[in-house]
Amino acid sequence: MTRSKVRGYHGIDIGGTKIELVAFHDDEHGLHEVHRERIATPGTDFAEFVQAMQQLVERADARLAMSAAVGIGLPGIVDKLSGRQLSSNVPALNGRAVASALQDALQRPLVIGNDCQCFALSEADGGAAHALPSMFGAILGTGAGGGYCVNGRLLRGANGIAGEWGHWPLPAAMLQQYQLPLLPCACGRSGCLERYVSGPGMSQLHRHLSGEDAVPLAIVAQAAAGSVLAQQTMALHLDLLAHALATLVITLDPHAIVLGGGLSQMPHLYQQLPGAIRRHLFNGVSVPPILPPAYGDAGGARGAALLARQLYP
Ligand SMILES: [Zn+2]
Repeated sequence: MTRSKVRGYHGIDIGGTKIELVAFHDDEHGLHEVHRERIATPGTDFAEFVQAMQQLVERADARLAMSAAVGIGLPGIVDKLSGRQLSSNVPALNGRAVASALQDALQRPLVIGNDCQCFALSEADGGAAHALPSMFGAILGTGAGGGYCVNGRLLRGANGIAGEWGHWPLPAAMLQQYQLPLLPCACGRSGCLERYVSGPGMSQLHRHLSGEDAVPLAIVAQAAAGSVLAQQTMALHLDLLAHALATLVITLDPHAIVLGGGLSQMPHLYQQLPGAIRRHLFNGVSVPPILPPAYGDAGGARGAALLARQLYP
C-alpha cells in the first residue's frame, strides 16, 4: 500500500499596497487552500519588508504544520546578472537582490516569478485554460504582460522573461497608418505595445484622437452612448491589440489566449477580438479561443504556489 505524501506550498502575491499569502496543501487532487493572510506592503524600508515576509511565512508554516516551499509573484524584472530587482512598483525593492535576501531569511526552496507569469500559470492549471496543451495568459492592466504555458507548466525562458509581449514594439506600419506618436516606455525603449494597448494606453489613444482624458470604462460608456470619438478610440485599440495577438498566434500558436487585468472585464474584447485577429492572419489559420480568466488577479498567489510546485515537486 502506498501512502500519499502531503506537501504544502505558500504562494505570495506582492503588490504595491498589499502582500497576500495563500497556503496550500497539495495531494493527488491538486492544491487545497488552507490559510490566507493579507498585510500592507512595507513600501520604503527593505529590512522591514524582509522581516514582514519572514513573519508572514512563519505564521503560514504554523497553519500547515510544515516548512513549505515558497513561490512569489512580483511585478517588474530581475537583472539576470546581478539578481537585482528592476522597475518594481514597491520602491523598497528597487535595486535590491530580493531573491537572495528572502532566501537567507526564509531558509527553504523559493522561487520568484513575474506576476503576469503567475497569472498565466494559475489559468493554465485549474483555470480557464485547464487541460489545454498550451495557452498564453495576456494581462491588460496598468501594463501589458503575460506568460506562456505548455501542458500546464510555465515556460520561463533563459532570462525568465518569456511572455513579455508588452515590450514588443508597435509595428511602424501601424504607427504610420494611425499617425500615432512614438511613446517612451519605462523599460528604456520607445514604441512598446504596452504604451498603447494597456489601460493607460487606451486612455492615451483617446487623448491622441480627442484631446480628452478618460479612463477605459468611461471610454466604453461614451462609445455605447454614441460618442464617435470614443468609438474611434475603441476601434483603434482593438486593431492594435488584435495585430499584437495575431503576431502571438504566429509565434507561439497557443491553444487559447486568456485575458487578465482590468481590461479583461470588457465584454467587447471577447466578441470582437477573434474577428479582428483573423484580419491580421493568413488563410488557413484558426484564431484560438479568447477566454475570460477563471481566477484573474485573485490567482496571483495561487499561480506563485503552482510555480513553486513546478520547480520543487
Ligand atoms: Zn517597454
